[in-house]
Amino acid sequence: MFLGRKFLHSPVGKIEISGCETGLHEIQLPKTNLPADAAVGGGGTLPAPLQQCTAWLHAYFCEPALTAALPLPAFHHPLLQQASFTGQVLWTLLREVKFGEAVSYKQLAALAGNSRAARAVGGAMRSNPIPIIIPCHRVIRSSGESGNYGGGRLLKEWLLSHERLQKAQVARRGAPAPPLNSPDTDGAAGRSPGAPAVREPASSR
Ligand SMILES: [Zn+2]
Repeated sequence: MFLGRKFLHSPVGKIEISGCETGLHEIQLPKTNLPADAAVGGGGTLPAPLQQCTAWLHAYFCEPALTAALPLPAFHHPLLQQASFTGQVLWTLLREVKFGEAVSYKQLAALAGNSRAARAVGGAMRSNPIPIIIPCHRVIRSSGESGNYGGGRLLKEWLLSHERLQKAQVARRGAPAPPLNSPDTDGAAGRSPGAPAVREPASSR
């Protein structure tokens, strides 16, 4: 099997992605938040899921509005393939908690079908093999504090404020402008074509 591995430069440091032709295995967050300086890896051909992951992460940091239109890489990790509460929580998080939103551990537990499993949700977040794409940084404490994060609390807060700022910027630009003379485009702003309408997790109590 063709295994690939690549280091990506990001505004938050060096991110390592690994996977095979079947799918993405892991995204490893930078160990520290120091800006990366040396160019690492990147040469040669990469399995398609790693190429998609690279493009997705690049868009996430540089032009997040584009991520909705990009294919998500397939995942190839046992936690995301077995039927388990952890797997269910991670898939629910990916599907339901969108860019710029946040939910509490308890709200995510409820979305995944067991409102009393907030503690298990915390465990699922710690074992998330695909951070950023599976947005465990959007799961915060009920108090509004950011809470723990595999990449460190500082990185979690950076990602959350990156999303808030980018979302506000898109809203200010009014993007994308609906064509003139099309009366039925209201309510679709910011949603990618074909994406399912999701309920706002923050209002699900
Ligand atoms: Zn694999």
